[in-house]
Amino acid sequence: MKIVAGTYHVELAGATVECSLRGRVKQKDARFVSVGDRVRVETLPDQSCRIHKLLPRHSALTRHGVARRREQVIVANVDQVAVVVSVTRPEPDFSMIDRLLALSELNELDGLLIVNKSDLWEPERSGPARLPSDFNPYTDAGYDVLFTSAEDGAGLEVLREWLSGRVTVLSGPSGVGKSSLLNALMPGLDLRVGEVGERKGRGRHTTVAASLYPFPGGGYVADTPGLQYLALWEVEPAELTHAFREFGPVAVDCRFADCRHRAEPGCAVRDAVQAEELSEQRYRHYMALLEEAEEGR
Ligand code: GDP
Ligand code: ZN
Repeated sequence: MKIVAGTYHVELAGATVECSLRGRVKQKDARFVSVGDRVRVETLPDQSCRIHKLLPRHSALTRHGVARRREQVIVANVDQVAVVVSVTRPEPDFSMIDRLLALSELNELDGLLIVNKSDLWEPERSGPARLPSDFNPYTDAGYDVLFTSAEDGAGLEVLREWLSGRVTVLSGPSGVGKSSLLNALMPGLDLRVGEVGERKGRGRHTTVAASLYPFPGGGYVADTPGLQYLALWEVEPAELTHAFREFGPVAVDCRFADCRHRAEPGCAVRDAVQAEELSEQRYRHYMALLEEAEEGR
């Protein structure tokens, strides 16, 4: 459920027990035993608990994306990544949305977009999201987009369905209502408003210390403070084109198979952006991430 200073908090028969790591596992797997992992534990004669085996994973959210061998696992056995933003207060940061969705694509995880504070839509508002249709590029790209309000309850039943029975990494800037949404869905959790996703530091060396909350009715929600600030510096630039899922079907028509969609002649992605068939804003954010990835090589 979480790892604090070398102590592993393991959910066992509905309770959480604090475990150490067996020496042999330590040598082989210490770097790898992560939040979300399934493990076998044993009770020692002094009644303390110890992890003695790491079980196989079906997926993981990692820093580096799937192609990396020595990837650093943030959460193991993840089913989906839910990016949370708000209509306003704070205004949505579309470049952060695209960074988080790219990270989830690189890890081959489903991405969801939750737009909270839907009670605050106003006709003729200004700001980066003027209308719900400003999120159409995401539905067009094939993402589920859900408008919610922790205030008036809109969308909460659908959100409950999305989260139940799955392991969901919940990520987004502070103040968008993550704690409020979880409190509304998980009575008794009693998170301090503002508690989820609090973090320190940003950029390349951001450490993301994850923790899991069991979701009533099955599943877990993973809090990953700082995830939205993770630099994608260790991603293969060539992989990034797959991180923008709507580019894929278009990119097959690029003249060069390894087209990075920047200035190459015969680039079908750039043509589609010009023809307004692909979102110009998503394309700009792709370019920014590409430069970041190239800088990190
Ligand atoms: P977090 O930092 O993402 O966990 O956000 P919080 O849950 O702490 O919420 C930040 C602020 O937004 C608090 O003052 C909440 O009361 C408020 N808030 C949360 N959800 C909503 C919502 O759906 N509508 C409105 N109007 N305010 C909300
Ligand atoms: Zn291209």
